[in-house]
Amino acid sequence: MDRERDGPGRDAAGAVGYRLFLDGYTAERLDRETVVVRHPEGARYRVDTLFATCTCGEAAEHRPCGHLLGYSALLCEQQAYEEAQVAALEARHDEWEMTLENDRAERILREMGVCEF
Ligand SMILES: [Zn+2]
Repeated sequence: MDRERDGPGRDAAGAVGYRLFLDGYTAERLDRETVVVRHPEGARYRVDTLFATCTCGEAAEHRPCGHLLGYSALLCEQQAYEEAQVAALEARHDEWEMTLENDRAERILREMGVCEF
């Protein structure tokens, strides 16, 4: 990394931008050009992806901000997390249904006197 060219501010903002998900930020795409990035404690920043602007203080002072640099990765990581959560819930539901079916089958067999459990 060329510190003269990139500067320490850019490094810091880039690092922040790529760890938004880990730091508990969430993002919501409002339309094609607008994403709202939420800090875990509630602050909201509106990122305009077309004009590369953000409503936070860093961007207002023309410094690179993590919201702008990281919103895309945040949206991807958030979606992957949500999909993993849904898959885990579906797997637990399938397992639960299988248990229910087994219990039902055992009861029927017991009532028929076919076998004892
Ligand atoms: Zn920002």
